[in-house]
Amino acid sequence: MIPISTVQLGSEEEERVLAVLRSGVIAQGPVVKELEDRFATLVGVEHAVAVNNGTTALIASLAVLDLKPGDEIITSPFTFAATLNAILEAGATARFADVSDDDFCVTPESVEALVGPRTKVLLPVHLYGQPAAMTEISRIADEHSLTIVEDAAQAHGASVDGRQAGGFGIGCFSLYATKNLTTGEGGIITTDDASIAARLRILRNQGMRQRYEYVTAGNNYRLTDLQAAIALPQLDRYDRMVAARAENAARLSELLVGIHGLTTPAQVEGRFHVWHQYTVLLPEGTDRDAVVEGMTAAGVSTGIYYPRLVHDYPPYRDRADVILDPTPVAASVAARCLSLPVHPHLADGDVETIAGALQDCLA
Ligand SMILES: *Cc1c(COP(=O)(O)O)cnc(C)c1O
Repeated sequence: MIPISTVQLGSEEEERVLAVLRSGVIAQGPVVKELEDRFATLVGVEHAVAVNNGTTALIASLAVLDLKPGDEIITSPFTFAATLNAILEAGATARFADVSDDDFCVTPESVEALVGPRTKVLLPVHLYGQPAAMTEISRIADEHSLTIVEDAAQAHGASVDGRQAGGFGIGCFSLYATKNLTTGEGGIITTDDASIAARLRILRNQGMRQRYEYVTAGNNYRLTDLQAAIALPQLDRYDRMVAARAENAARLSELLVGIHGLTTPAQVEGRFHVWHQYTVLLPEGTDRDAVVEGMTAAGVSTGIYYPRLVHDYPPYRDRADVILDPTPVAASVAARCLSLPVHPHLADGDVETIAGALQDCLA
């Protein structure tokens, strides 16, 4: 079976973790600091604050913005539940802008159309490793004095017009096991704003500035050195891992180009895609469940990210803090998307197997 994602850690990770074990400092310590410094460099920002997962990264980022009930956050309806859960946890109101079927991210036009007197935050999601149209979204944020919080959980190292995802506002990354970079569970927040970084560090550690000097009601959002140690060797080879993903993606697109009605992922001008997922849109009217079954029978795991719009589940219905506007493109994309394995550990011939299997399923 060709898996949709794999975790491949080796002797370098083992050595780093063992060194932490032997050091006796196994909670947050110097290795977390090392990860933060190196991640800030990757994203090209002044500050990175490591936390215990990507959801927490979003929650903490929104918490330091002092949002009030009724404040609106504009995000994507085509995302993982964590994005919406974090907005609701912050006590804010979620609104959903439509996405483009080119980059699967919110479009500047649909975002701008929702901006009103209650809007406080724009929260684009860089889905599948493809960054949103951040140059235009940043202009909208500037014009209306809004804060940008980026859900960059899937987009470590992606960039737009030479500027990295996570560098346009407050960047929220996940280090979960299936993400491009992993610590098992983990997250990291990036910012150029020293006061935001300082507040995040305080919030992460029970609201303490110094030992027992509490300045806010905080929480425990800390990552551990044991976890951070796992990410450091991956950072050493990260460029190569992304290049392997990009190569697999390019080859898949080459092989799939002839399938009638199938849309392969776009390579948008000016954007550097880090290929967390390789996601096609099946031809209109295709029975997606049958394709998934056929692919499985052919030995290829696939993923559906995401089968329904994020708010289209019972916990989010009929709530004053979840405002729905029509998002027809997102609805169509959710009904037709299918992700194929693109990870850097595909073996020789796997790409051909994957493309061949899809061809057969759609024949
Ligand atoms: C993974 C993910 C998250 C949450 O990250 P966790 O580390 O799993 O908490 C948030 N948003 C998106 C888009 C994700 O893919």
